Amino acid sequence: MKKIQVEKERCIGCGACVNIASNTFDFDEEGKSEVLSNEHLEDEVVQLAIESCPTIAISIIDVEEQESINDDTESLDEECCDCEACHCEHCDCSMTEEDEAA
Ligand code: SF4
Repeated sequence: MKKIQVEKERCIGCGACVNIASNTFDFDEEGKSEVLSNEHLEDEVVQLAIESCPTIAISIIDVEEQESINDDTESLDEECCDCEACHCEHCDCSMTEEDEAA
C-alpha cells in the first residue's frame, strides 16, 4: 500500500501543495503541510503538487517496504551490543582484542 508523506523538517510552508491539491494537503497548526487523504494519490494534480514542492518534502512511499526497512533496522539494533569494545560485527570501535589485553 502506498501513501503520501510530507517531511515536516523540510517543509517551509510555501503553500504550493495546498494550493495545487487542496483535497490532499492542508496546513497544520504550525503552518506546515500535512496530508489530509491518500484517496487521490494517483491523481495528476497530486503528482504536480509533489513536483512543485521547492524543498522536495513530499514523497509517495510504499508502506510495506518502509515497514520492512524498519524491521531490518530494529533487528540490527537488537544484534548490536552497543559497547565500545565488544568486537562484534556491528561494533565500530577500533580497539583490537590484543590492544585490550595489553
Ligand atoms: S510545497 Fe513543500 S514546502 Fe511548500 S507547503 Fe507543500 S510540503 Fe511545504
